[in-house]
Amino acid sequence: MKYNTCPHCYNQVPNGASVCTGCQAEISYGVSIGKLFILFLVITGITLYLLDRNLYLGKALDLLIDSRVLYRVKGMGIILSTFLPGILWVAAIYKRERNSVIFSRRYRR
Ligand SMILES: [Zn+2]
Repeated sequence: MKYNTCPHCYNQVPNGASVCTGCQAEISYGVSIGKLFILFLVITGITLYLLDRNLYLGKALDLLIDSRVLYRVKGMGIILSTFLPGILWVAAIYKRERNSVIFSRRYRR
């Protein structure tokens, strides 16, 4: 069985446990979806802000409904380049932190 060492009390805690048996620190595994979602929104917001004012989503949607194929491809390109940085960041963080174990000790009175 795999054990994780508690950073607060150095107790060996079996992997999968939700509380440290030594100091009652709460243990969470992996990345929180909420955190990834907020990261995605922030990165996408920054990307939108940095994009050329003429190339933002409203224009992209106009291009998408155009009858000309070249314009539709261009519209899709704009939408992809808007969301791709956020998706790549989320994927990178997920890959790096999906196996992480976090011990958080709450002080209760
Ligand atoms: Zn502990």
